[in-house]
Amino acid sequence: MIGTSLALALSPLGLRIAVVEAIARKDDQQPSFDDRSTALSRSTQRMFEAMGLWGDVVAAATPITSIHVSDKGRFGFSHIDAEEQGVEALGYVVINRVLGQVLQSRLANTESVDFYCPARIEAIELGPTQASATLSSNSGEQTLTCKLLVAADGANSAVREMMGISAQKQEYGQRAVIGNLLPEKNLDDRAFERFTAQGPLAILPIADNRAGFVWTVAEHDADRVIGLDDDDFLAEIQEQFGHRLGKFSRVGARACYPLVLSKVLRLTATRSVLIGNAAHGLHPVSAQGFNLGMRDVAALCDCIADCSDKGCEKGSDPLSEIGIGELLERYARWRKADQKKLVHFTDNLVRLFGSSRPGIRTLRNIGMIGFDLIPGVRSLFAKHTMGLAGDLPRLSRGVPIR
Ligand SMILES: Cc1cc2nc3c(=O)[nH]c(=O)nc-3n(C[C@H](O)[C@H](O)[C@H](O)COP(=O)(O)OP(=O)(O)OC[C@H]3O[C@@H](n4cnc5c(N)ncnc54)[C@H](O)[C@@H]3O)c2cc1C
Repeated sequence: MIGTSLALALSPLGLRIAVVEAIARKDDQQPSFDDRSTALSRSTQRMFEAMGLWGDVVAAATPITSIHVSDKGRFGFSHIDAEEQGVEALGYVVINRVLGQVLQSRLANTESVDFYCPARIEAIELGPTQASATLSSNSGEQTLTCKLLVAADGANSAVREMMGISAQKQEYGQRAVIGNLLPEKNLDDRAFERFTAQGPLAILPIADNRAGFVWTVAEHDADRVIGLDDDDFLAEIQEQFGHRLGKFSRVGARACYPLVLSKVLRLTATRSVLIGNAAHGLHPVSAQGFNLGMRDVAALCDCIADCSDKGCEKGSDPLSEIGIGELLERYARWRKADQKKLVHFTDNLVRLFGSSRPGIRTLRNIGMIGFDLIPGVRSLFAKHTMGLAGDLPRLSRGVPIR
């Protein structure tokens, strides 16, 4: 999702770009364009608008006009409302597979991008004047050379390891079970986040009055939950969520994802850079992983565009050793704060709401009340979740890169 988005975002700059993807989009095993539903933030919406893609994305997406947050076993709840924030929607939900169709059909019509798929990067070499990648595919091995190599190969990034950057990983002891079901009452574009003793349960509005769910369950219980037949599964998820949306029925196929927090100490190496999940892996509780990765895309596009403008003015190679060094330094400085903030925010949310210690439970109830009553807190929170806080690159502000 992130690598394809970067290639499309860079395409107006007149560069020659190669995308290497190991698994074809229509393959059942495609790990990115799968059956999950992703909540797109406002800054991601603006990016797709600036890239001329939003019309196709929104045609397949469902708006979120309010988010209802509750804590199982407690009366308190909180909510964020689009109208109150002065926006038409807080975000939009899209199925990854459908987003994949939109992005890849645009990629197929973008002349400046060569798409190598299925092909896997097996080795890289990073030097002062160029980087190279060795690909293996059905037709054998080949080597590509480039001025800048971008690793967007996900949380278990092999390219990151090849760049000599290791990730610190921390398992949450939880797995996310995803799928969709039919609630008795219409969601009316409302999203729900319910914190339960096992972990958070998100219910998202999707097409045909159905609801996408992301249900966090304890690692030791995940195989049992996944193995439940439809009726038993519906009974258990209903018990966790309650009856706010009436009776749940007609649950679809379920899939399971291990949940790991992953952080890196560096975002760049010689002529190479990390973006998306290769740079940061978050718990899905805050629905921010893809959106954060899109802000990496936007910042990297700005850095590359400015670097090539500067090079043109001086009549020199914009991606010379010095030019690329400045570009990488600027990107790393720019992205560090946003990534760090969101990693902490998401991790703290999991720990705060995952704890059953009495003091912490009281604290989070006070937190929820404060969140609703203290002026400005809700707006600030909404601004962060919409991706509109901080120093925003052009695309995140909806400004085309060219
Ligand atoms: C249950 C769940 C729900 C989520 N919900 C949301 C949400 O609502 N909102 C949100 O913003 N985020 C959400 N996320 C996070 C989001 O899905 C990820 O942040 C996003 O998929 C990361 O995209 P990526 O392209 O960086 O990595 P990936 O999606 O992992 O893609 C990596 C790609 O690299 C390819 N690849 C791997 N190795 C190689 C190689 N050696 N050579 C070539 N290709 C290779 C893979 O085949 C894959 O296609 C959720 C995550 C989960 C688990």
